[in-house]
Amino acid sequence: MATMRLEIVTAERMVYSEEVDMLVAPGIDGQLGILPNHAPLLTALQPGEIRVDKEGEENYMAVSGGFLEVLANRVTILADTAERAEEIDIERAEAAVRRAEERIAVGTSDADLQRAVFSLRRSQARLLAARRRRPRRDRGGAPQQPS
Ligand code: ATP
Repeated sequence: MATMRLEIVTAERMVYSEEVDMLVAPGIDGQLGILPNHAPLLTALQPGEIRVDKEGEENYMAVSGGFLEVLANRVTILADTAERAEEIDIERAEAAVRRAEERIAVGTSDADLQRAVFSLRRSQARLLAARRRRPRRDRGGAPQQPS
């Protein structure tokens, strides 16, 4: 089966670099599904989760925004911040959600409100991605014995 290269990078680090089968990313105008040999594309991203299918497994990541480029069967995501599901500190994201909600409820200047809304969306994206991996692991039950 055809694959494509996916690289997710931030200014600080390489978050993910693998050959993958499929990718779903939060494009600025909605969800973007990308398969191998996709036409060239450059788009902005909004806060959300990235789903990556690789060898029959789904992997999730959170992204807070940035850009996605498809060129020559290679997808590059230059993200403001990005974390793999297993790296996400759920309590930290929950606390960030609470802080943002409080700031929104109190009502401040437009600029502060906008910051709080983006903080809320970043944190919600982290919670979404982080929680994706729990049910999968639980569904698996006891580790399989080799037959
Ligand atoms: P917080 O208020 O908890 O710092 P934030 O949304 O302000 O959250 P960012 O400025 O988006 O945080 O990110 C700062 C750095 O911390 C980035 O490297 C990001 O990947 C990382 N990060 C933020 N929240 C989490 C989290 N819940 N789990 C793991 N890493 C996180």
